Amino acid sequence: MKRMLSAVKPTGKLTLGNYIGAIRNFVKYQNDYEMIVFIANLHCITVYQEPEELKKNLKDAAALYMACGLDPEKTTMFLQTDVMEHAELGYIMACNTYLGELNRMTQFKDKMAKGESGLSAGLYTYPCLMAADILLYDADYVPVGDDQKQHVELTRDIAQRFNNRYGETFKLPEPLVQQVGKRIMMLNDPYHKMSKSENNDKGCIYLLDDLNVIRKKIMSAVTDSYGEIKVDQERQPGIYNLLEIYSALTDISKEEIAAEFKGKGYGEFKKAVADVVVQEIEKIQKRYNEIIKENIIEDVLNEGALKAHKMAFKKVKKVERKIGIDIHKRK
Ligand code: ATP
Ligand code: MG
Repeated sequence: MKRMLSAVKPTGKLTLGNYIGAIRNFVKYQNDYEMIVFIANLHCITVYQEPEELKKNLKDAAALYMACGLDPEKTTMFLQTDVMEHAELGYIMACNTYLGELNRMTQFKDKMAKGESGLSAGLYTYPCLMAADILLYDADYVPVGDDQKQHVELTRDIAQRFNNRYGETFKLPEPLVQQVGKRIMMLNDPYHKMSKSENNDKGCIYLLDDLNVIRKKIMSAVTDSYGEIKVDQERQPGIYNLLEIYSALTDISKEEIAAEFKGKGYGEFKKAVADVVVQEIEKIQKRYNEIIKENIIEDVLNEGALKAHKMAFKKVKKVERKIGIDIHKRK
């Protein structure tokens, strides 16, 4: 069975974008692949997090993974720092990555271009840790949203170079980008990706938002003055985004949805989108509340970490032998 790996970093509350672009797909894939999904708490701290808030977001993320349908029987679920080999291999990967490569990463470049100050070295080198996350487990596929594709490509480059230098060690992973729902945009700004760390409360739908709030956010989504529901990302980015959300959650194509709403007003269309979103999130929240009550997160994370550690330990030892830093058999 092919192996697939992914993660979400809960630097904030998980959004509908994270659900559509990532978590929901993991749930589908867990039947056909050996799934490994972890909570990337090390990646979270590349940007300062208020500790108490971070703890809450991490716990929520674990519960939400399960609430969205990840099944611990099928998916290995764990917290990144519970498997210390991530940090260990992350450092080794950083030593095998060129500055030029990191300088080309658009995510970091965008942050620089925005003139953000106080960017950490951890944020700059995070693609190296991400490479380690993936290569530790010989993942065949990494399902990602559009924004992460470049980092998986860098992972392949690092792995390839390592293999050439030290002999076959790592499997080269393939990024798997979903066609529908790969880039959900802010509701109040359809030119920018919905991102949990943007602090744009009106533009983001959070999975744990009150259902009425979700409805309100969708009803006040930015549209345009054309007054026609068409699939035209350039001219009607707001409508396009709503079509994308509707399509992702119903598996009906955007063209079919646009045809169904031909001649109808934006208000009616938004209401239909809100119905679909609320219905989906209501199910997730119900299950989330049950999981919190059952108190099962602890056991799931511990078991997941044990399984992941076995794989990761073997891989790191192999790497360390190859590069010459391991000089004895550690018990
Ligand atoms: P941050 O602002 O911290 O970068 P984020 O919301 O972009 O947060 P990530 O942790 O970077 O979330 O990504 C988690 C997963 O969700 C990735 O696979 C990413 O591609 C996907 N994802 C994130 N935002 C969206 C979005 N708006 N549409 C579709 N997929 C998304
Ligand atoms: Mg992101």
